[in-house]
Amino acid sequence: MSATQQPQQIAQIYTQDPTVGKIEKIALEGAIAEGPSDAYVAAPRDYYFTRYSDRKTRDFIFDPAKNPMQFDQVSTFVVINQVREMYTRALNRIAQQGGSRLAGWQWGAAPITYKIRAGDDANAYYSRDERVLAFFTFYSTSARKQIYTSESFDVVAHEAGHAILDTLKPGFFDSWHPQTGAIHEAFGDLTAIFSAISIPSLRQ
Ligand SMILES: [Zn+2]
Repeated sequence: MSATQQPQQIAQIYTQDPTVGKIEKIALEGAIAEGPSDAYVAAPRDYYFTRYSDRKTRDFIFDPAKNPMQFDQVSTFVVINQVREMYTRALNRIAQQGGSRLAGWQWGAAPITYKIRAGDDANAYYSRDERVLAFFTFYSTSARKQIYTSESFDVVAHEAGHAILDTLKPGFFDSWHPQTGAIHEAFGDLTAIFSAISIPSLRQ
């Protein structure tokens, strides 16, 4: 049986802020390798590398209470993957009228990597130089618990939005003009909204 004939792989992710605790099962597009990784988004080598939860179905279904690292690794990958798929579909439609398709990333065909435990900070970032989406963790005194930015759908989608816009308009990233920075931030926020809408269970 070829990869295209196999049923869609299923992953379990947070589809809202983890404080809401809403977990959803998402059908993945394309064939996703262990890591998880695909041609565009790759798990860094030996960094919370996550195997299939079921080798036969090749699903990634983990319980966040029992396997938090695996769950976060999968959730982060899936949100980045969903953002990329959304823009790929949109740009392919535009390409039929003469626009350009989404090809690779700002630097070319090499995949972007993602780090779910990049360090101790209330921060997350996209780095063109490191070719990474990095998500930090910090202690919230108001919530009285450790916050993992990789567990926030909005944060991950926002940072992935920066990577997409940098691919489409690399000049925006180098600019020191404050309005350009504002476009990047707005694009990231809209990416989070549109990608949430693109997941059927989140539209309700
Ligand atoms: Zn931003």
